[in-house]
Amino acid sequence: MNRTLSTARPLLLMVDDVPSNIHVLAQSLQADFDIMIATDGPSALALIHKERPDLILLDVMMPGMDGYEVCKQLQRDSATSHIPIIFVTAKSEVTAEEYGFKLGAVDYITKPFTVSLVRARVNTHLKLKSLIRQLEEANQRLHYKLCLLEKQHTQMLNYSTELEEVRERQKLFSQVFESTNDGVMITDPKGNIIAVNGAFTRFSGYSEEEVLGQPPRILRSERHDECFYREMWQSIKSTGHWTGEVWNKNKSGELYLELLTISAVHDENETIKCYIGVFSDITQLREVQQRMDFLTWHDPLTSLPNRLLLTDRLSQLLGNTCRQEGFGALLVFGLQGFSNLCVTRGSALGDKVLADLSQVLIGSLADGDSLARLEGDQFAMLLSQVHERSEQASDAAHQHADGIRALVAQFSGTIESDLFQLRAAVGAAIYPDSSEEAVSSVISRAETAYFRAKNTGSDGAVVFFETHMGERIEQRLTDEHRLRLGIQQGQLRVYLQSQVYSDGQVHGAEALVRWEHPEEGLISPAAFIPLAEGSDLIVQIDRWMIDQVTALLGPLRKSHPKLKLSVNVSSRCFQCDDFVGYTEQCLQRYNVAPSQLVIEVTESTMLDNIDRVVGKMIALADSGVSFSIDDFGTGYSSLYYLKSLPLTELKIDQSFIRDMLNDPNDAELVNVIMQIASRFKLSVVAEGVETKEQADYLRENGQPLMQGYLFSIPEPAAQWLKRIEPRKG
Ligand code: C2E
Ligand code: MG
Ligand code: MG
Repeated sequence: MNRTLSTARPLLLMVDDVPSNIHVLAQSLQADFDIMIATDGPSALALIHKERPDLILLDVMMPGMDGYEVCKQLQRDSATSHIPIIFVTAKSEVTAEEYGFKLGAVDYITKPFTVSLVRARVNTHLKLKSLIRQLEEANQRLHYKLCLLEKQHTQMLNYSTELEEVRERQKLFSQVFESTNDGVMITDPKGNIIAVNGAFTRFSGYSEEEVLGQPPRILRSERHDECFYREMWQSIKSTGHWTGEVWNKNKSGELYLELLTISAVHDENETIKCYIGVFSDITQLREVQQRMDFLTWHDPLTSLPNRLLLTDRLSQLLGNTCRQEGFGALLVFGLQGFSNLCVTRGSALGDKVLADLSQVLIGSLADGDSLARLEGDQFAMLLSQVHERSEQASDAAHQHADGIRALVAQFSGTIESDLFQLRAAVGAAIYPDSSEEAVSSVISRAETAYFRAKNTGSDGAVVFFETHMGERIEQRLTDEHRLRLGIQQGQLRVYLQSQVYSDGQVHGAEALVRWEHPEEGLISPAAFIPLAEGSDLIVQIDRWMIDQVTALLGPLRKSHPKLKLSVNVSSRCFQCDDFVGYTEQCLQRYNVAPSQLVIEVTESTMLDNIDRVVGKMIALADSGVSFSIDDFGTGYSSLYYLKSLPLTELKIDQSFIRDMLNDPNDAELVNVIMQIASRFKLSVVAEGVETKEQADYLRENGQPLMQGYLFSIPEPAAQWLKRIEPRKG
């Protein structure tokens, strides 16, 4: 049934088991309401379910199912529970009323009633019901709206969170944009600048105001042609990106190199919105990289090619010689006297010498030839010409070696201190020595020849590699290394050997060095001094000996004021600039009377460089130090230096003493030496006296001082000192 309150009159159901009871009432209400009548509970329920009345007037007292029961059932069913029920009854007890209300009745009318009262109550309840209904509907609408609002509110909340996030992101983006170390430039699709960041301003020198609306070409340098930019834009158009290095010009006109990435930004319709260029200044990076590249191939001190670059160039030339079936030459050379210069004058001067000399040598290079620094004072010259025959290659090597030697000698004269003379020792290898010779082999052969030239002191000629050289040089380098370690680890010892008067009294002693090797035991100087003389090691050894001997002499100043100790000093050590100063310092440090120190030099020391030696000898002699010529008679015994040098003693070499009793020539020589000594007022020491006969002969002929196994063998300094103790005072 489709009845609504608005379109039809309200429908009332009147339930009473006695129809006459409600007849009058029904008739009078009909004017305002549609009326249905039921006379018992079940039929009332059936009608209610069918017609859904707007209000029920329900008699309580009915046979079978009473009004309470009907009410209960209606209340239980949600389809009928909302229909207002007014109990109409003769019962007037309060309890009955209460019970009816409890069951859900809206009103209680007791009989007898007046029609107008019933009408009024019915109208009231219908209105009430209608109001409730409207209220419920309004409530429902409100509820719905509320839900909607809640939903909108949640959405709003979400929106505002999103908005906040977007704002945060924008802030972050602009912070990143501003604070990034990379320059950023954004242009519109036409290529006009619309934004730049702080880094852009730092790199380019232009402020944002100065570049806004300008095309990026204001930054262009002349380093790239139009073609470069055309290709750049072609790439951006076809791929959306371009990355590369660009030389740009900043506001003050300086060029800078940037690593630039340009990206096109599209909108959802694939239309270009803008271009973003991000760049970093890599000018310094490039410089560092270039420096690193340079250092990979060059020596930092002289800027000459290093071993690596030499190897590379040699490998090309070696290829050429193999193809042309010809010969080339590689020279390796070093500077004799260089390590002395460094030891005495410091490595700073050494570095300057190497750098300046390199410039001189470069100036003399022929086109295509290369000069490289291999290490220390060792250089290589690679001749570029390929010769048909190996003899021609050696001729060329000879010529170049002469040239190098002449330049080094000439340069040597320009060094601040005139006390140093540098000489070039040159080794050479003619290559290839076989059809498959490796580059490393050529270099190694030239180096071997060089070591040979250096160690034999071969003067004036280039030493060419010969097959046997390799092993010897290698052994020598190993020995040198071992000795250096030994010195560093304090394995040197001072031994003393007495020098006695004819009557056997001790005049003094010669200090002789020993190497106390932890595994090999005591090593004789004959085994390592020649090796040391090939390098700066001899300078270290001699200086150490001077220090030790003066340390021994200090305490003897008072107890044995006449006793003398001799120390051997080699030519190399003598050439050191500060030799005099060093010796004087030692004398002072240990409070030594200089007259107690004798320095033994060999004839070759003076031949080596007499001008340099003389000054030093004179300086030391002036302070009281004595000089003795060792192994006299074995070298070039010149009367000239006997006359001009401040000498006090000659030592006759032991080879003459050994044979003088058998060989009249040697006897004659010994006598002549003693006569010369006497002529020049020099004392004489006869070395290597081993037998009583030799001693007797000497006693009868000139009475020199004697040194030899007959009197004592060299022994540890402390032991020797103990031995002379009883004669003390
Ligand atoms: P030298 O200066 O002529 O020293 C004398 C050498 O003859 C010593 O050899 C000594 O032990 C040895 N000798 C002494 N008496 C006899 C003898 O009766 N018969 C024989 N057959 N030999 C005798 P040593 O100690 O082996 O020294 C050899 C050389 O080493 C020295 O010859 C010297 O030139 C050099 N030398 C030793 N110590 C030093 C040093 O501290 N500095 C330098 N530069 N050279 C040193
Ligand atoms: Mg000696
Ligand atoms: Mg000697």
